[in-house]
Amino acid sequence: MFFSKMLIPTLKEAPSDADIVSVKLMVRSGMMRKLASGLYELLPLGLKVLRKVENIIRQEMNSAGGQEVIFPLIFPKALLLETGRWNVYGKELFKLKDRKDVEFCLAPTAEEVVTDLIRKDIKSYKQLPVMLYQFGTKFRDEIRPRFGVMRSREFLMKDAYSFHTDEADLEKYYKTMFDAYTNICIKCGFQFRAVEAVSGAIGGSFSHEFMVLTDTGEEEMTWCNCGYGTNSEKAECLKIEQSKEEVLPAEEILTPDVGAVEDVAKLLNLSPKKFIKTMIYIADKKPVVVLVRGDHEINEIKLQTLLGADETALADEQTVISVTNAPIGFAGPARLKNIKIIADLSVAELSNALTGANKKDYHLKNVNFKRDYNADIVADIRKVMRGDICPRCKKEELKFSRGIEIGHTFKLGTKYSKSMNALYLDANGKEKFIIMGCYGIGVTRILAATIEQSHDDDGIIWPDNIAPFEVAIVPLNYADEKTKETTEKIHKELSSKGLDVLIDDRDERAGIKFKDADLIGIPYRITISEKNLANGNVELKARRDGKDTIRLLKPEGVVSELLKIFKK
Ligand code: ATP
Ligand code: MG
Repeated sequence: MFFSKMLIPTLKEAPSDADIVSVKLMVRSGMMRKLASGLYELLPLGLKVLRKVENIIRQEMNSAGGQEVIFPLIFPKALLLETGRWNVYGKELFKLKDRKDVEFCLAPTAEEVVTDLIRKDIKSYKQLPVMLYQFGTKFRDEIRPRFGVMRSREFLMKDAYSFHTDEADLEKYYKTMFDAYTNICIKCGFQFRAVEAVSGAIGGSFSHEFMVLTDTGEEEMTWCNCGYGTNSEKAECLKIEQSKEEVLPAEEILTPDVGAVEDVAKLLNLSPKKFIKTMIYIADKKPVVVLVRGDHEINEIKLQTLLGADETALADEQTVISVTNAPIGFAGPARLKNIKIIADLSVAELSNALTGANKKDYHLKNVNFKRDYNADIVADIRKVMRGDICPRCKKEELKFSRGIEIGHTFKLGTKYSKSMNALYLDANGKEKFIIMGCYGIGVTRILAATIEQSHDDDGIIWPDNIAPFEVAIVPLNYADEKTKETTEKIHKELSSKGLDVLIDDRDERAGIKFKDADLIGIPYRITISEKNLANGNVELKARRDGKDTIRLLKPEGVVSELLKIFKK
């Protein structure tokens, strides 16, 4: 392929709204352009990478016994109402009406559609297990579209769905898919980690997120050398034991105009670890009191799961006043009546703690669990933090890293088959719910994640397997007869063996050609100059190596070297 014939509109500068390095480089290298917020065009170079990633994924899905399908991108509202997801997804769904005013949405993922297919076409245990997958555009009206194709409003996802007769079969297959996802990450050249995760709107009992490790990642993971690893949102927190003190009488103290834990701690010269932070939440329209230690933070996902609530949010000022009889900042669990109290494990451990007194400008000293207040539930409801001990080995301090979630695998169980009544007949002719798993991977997000993980000041460094071209030939003067001849010979030999080669035939200065080659990030560059050709040589350089690693080789030597590298 000739550079001059392809649409590769490289840019010296990134547009001012490019928010992370992968967006800057995707736009500058001419892979991608922005149409509107969260909507991007992939140009020929971008699409070449996307197709390579797609093929890696397709191979792995086929090896895992999957069958490829294509579903519509427009779903009837009625289907998503069956599972309640029309409302759970809420504003993230792009909704539309047809000419008869019937409502639809654009595909966010396809659990309902595939379950509908299966409930109509699978009748017997003899047809199970089965796994269907597709590469399909997904639409999500994200609150904050950002980071280019990393969090866009339209993106390509590979979504797969498996159907089983029982949990044991799902369990076995989940492992197969876990291995397939691991292989995909390895083939794409990622440094990654698979961690346990919160299932979000898709639901289900158990899931893993495949995280590409990079400091710019939106997600935080918590892990331990013992093998424990989870999304920080889900990290379990152990009870922090405290040595019990002699219980002292409770005592009101004046703290005029000081409500926040840090300010009260300063005023009284006490560690926030001695505080009970008292927050009023509204869970499904009812107020609840939530207690964590002064230096801890409430994990709203844990809280919501514990309460089995559809919605939880901090209460407004009026509710706080009506629950505590005091302005915000003076709430405490003692003296509260007729309200559900939920205490974190480490709060119940505190002796002689400090809390708000439910009275303006007053706090209460020496508050003790059971004597001064009770809790309806004592459970793990806080966020993990630096210094916490691993909940699995209970020995080492947890470690934290940031990452980009590129894939998500779920054991769904009967979540969808129950609400959609997807049944099969077992060997005894008895009706049973089909057991499901689902497995998503963000194909377009993989492009951005790769670049986040693999770039330098000059541009992208594509891993060999997913590079848009494997080799770039840069003839410095393509008009020179000998140069042209050598270029074409090398090109012919490499491409006849299946390598993708880009020839920079443009009439540009060498500096510009080199800059573009580095920016685009093709793994190997062959430079052909009249000067070196005079000695029968051409240059070979690997993109990931420094400039001092350029080697002079005969054209045949370059060809055989590259064929060896790419195992052709
Ligand atoms: P996130 O937590 O990042 O919003 P999610 O849990 O909503 O992701 P899933 O519904 O599990 O994502 O979708 C499967 C995969 O699709 C994700 O692992 C990710 O790679 C990709 N993906 C999800 N949302 C987007 C998006 N807005 N833009 C690009 N890719 C996305
Ligand atoms: Mg999401």
